[in-house]
Amino acid sequence: RTVYVNGAYVPEDEAKISVFDRGFLFADGVYEVTSVLDGKLIDFAGHAARLKRSLSELEMESPVSEDDLLEIHRHLVRVNEIDEGLVYLQVTRGAADRDFAYPAEARPSLVLFTQAKPGLADAPAAKKGMRVISIPDRRWGRRDIKTVQLLYPSMGKMMARAAGADDAWMVEEGAVTEGTSNNAYIVKGNTIVTRHLGEEILHGITRAAVLRMAAEAQMKVEERSFTIAEAQDADEAFVTSASTFVMPVVEIDGEPVGAGAPGPVAARLREIYLDESRKKAV
Ligand code: PMP
Repeated sequence: RTVYVNGAYVPEDEAKISVFDRGFLFADGVYEVTSVLDGKLIDFAGHAARLKRSLSELEMESPVSEDDLLEIHRHLVRVNEIDEGLVYLQVTRGAADRDFAYPAEARPSLVLFTQAKPGLADAPAAKKGMRVISIPDRRWGRRDIKTVQLLYPSMGKMMARAAGADDAWMVEEGAVTEGTSNNAYIVKGNTIVTRHLGEEILHGITRAAVLRMAAEAQMKVEERSFTIAEAQDADEAFVTSASTFVMPVVEIDGEPVGAGAPGPVAARLREIYLDESRKKAV
């Protein structure tokens, strides 16, 4: 694989980042994951906009322009022959003598690589549905910034795996915040419910697109928090993320949701999302 590191395209085993890089020492960095379908980028503009916001919240500058960023994404997709998969991008504050305060001399590091994921759009999990457990949300308080500080979500996935489930929904003050790497939804009758935006959750790029498409399809959307009990009692549940699109959830803490099988609303949203996103892909 060819990867991109600070201005150069290099084979992955020749790529180098300093041991003093603050991404490594402080998790002082942000990232984005953009899906690739038919060799094209899904919602690049959305990811670029969120990256800009994450950087600005941390008083960091992007090392390259948005046009250059798009060109780097496209180049990697081309040289690595990615038909279905994803592009991972990371910006860290860069290398400097270790200090808690942001060092003025640090120059941001930019790294991008691709992952081929054949069958991404046609994932078997979309037909089977996922089983989730609930766990307390023990992350820091600025989850709206997409930082590389992902240890608690990793622990959450391991807790899910240990319980024989696929993923975990995190709960804070009695309400679901989000999944370990996705936004969470329930469906009650004709209404789609997902948590309102705030510092407690990541503002999913897929979430924004799916809510817009749901409204265009005359579906009712409520942005508010909900409990695990309400979710277990819902007709359907699902999650969204750039790499899984719309994915049904069929069981929460061992209780079936609705019929315990993927529901029609999630299936329809997945189809609409994939269709429209493919059309607009760059
Ligand atoms: N919430 C969290 C905590 C995530 O890690 C992700 C995926 N990175 C999402 C939500 C979904 O965001 P997006 O649709 O932009 O991938």
